[in-house]
Amino acid sequence: MPSTATKAARMTKKEMEKYRRLLDDKKSSLSAEIAKTRSAEEETTEESTQDIADKAVSSYTREFLYSLTDGERNTLLHIDDALARIDEGNYGLCLNCGQLMTEKRLNAVPWAPYCLDCQELSEKGMLQN
Ligand SMILES: [Zn+2]
Repeated sequence: MPSTATKAARMTKKEMEKYRRLLDDKKSSLSAEIAKTRSAEEETTEESTQDIADKAVSSYTREFLYSLTDGERNTLLHIDDALARIDEGNYGLCLNCGQLMTEKRLNAVPWAPYCLDCQELSEKGMLQN
C-alpha cells in the first residue's frame, strides 16, 4: 500500500490526558517506593554490629537497594520529561525519529522516550544524543 503520510501523526489531547493520569499515578507510587527504600537503607546501615555472615547479607541488601533507587530515579526523570512533552503537545512522539509510538508501547512504558527501534539503537549506544 502506498503511504500518504504527509502529516505527522499526533495524539489527541484526550489521549494525552489519559497518559498523564498513568504517569501521575506511576510518579506517586514511585515516590512512595523511594521513600520506603530510603528508610530501609537507614535500617540496614544501623545494623552494623553483627558477625561476618550477617554483614555480607546486609551489604548485599544495601547494593540491591542502591541499584533499585538508581533505576527508580531514572524512571522518575523520564516521567517528568514525558509530562513536559504532554504540556508541549509532543507526547507519544519518538524523540529520535519523530514517529508516533504504538499504543501498546505507551501502555507498557508510558514514559518511553523512544520507539522500540530507536530504544534498541540507544541501548547499543548508536543514538547521537
Ligand atoms: Zn524512533
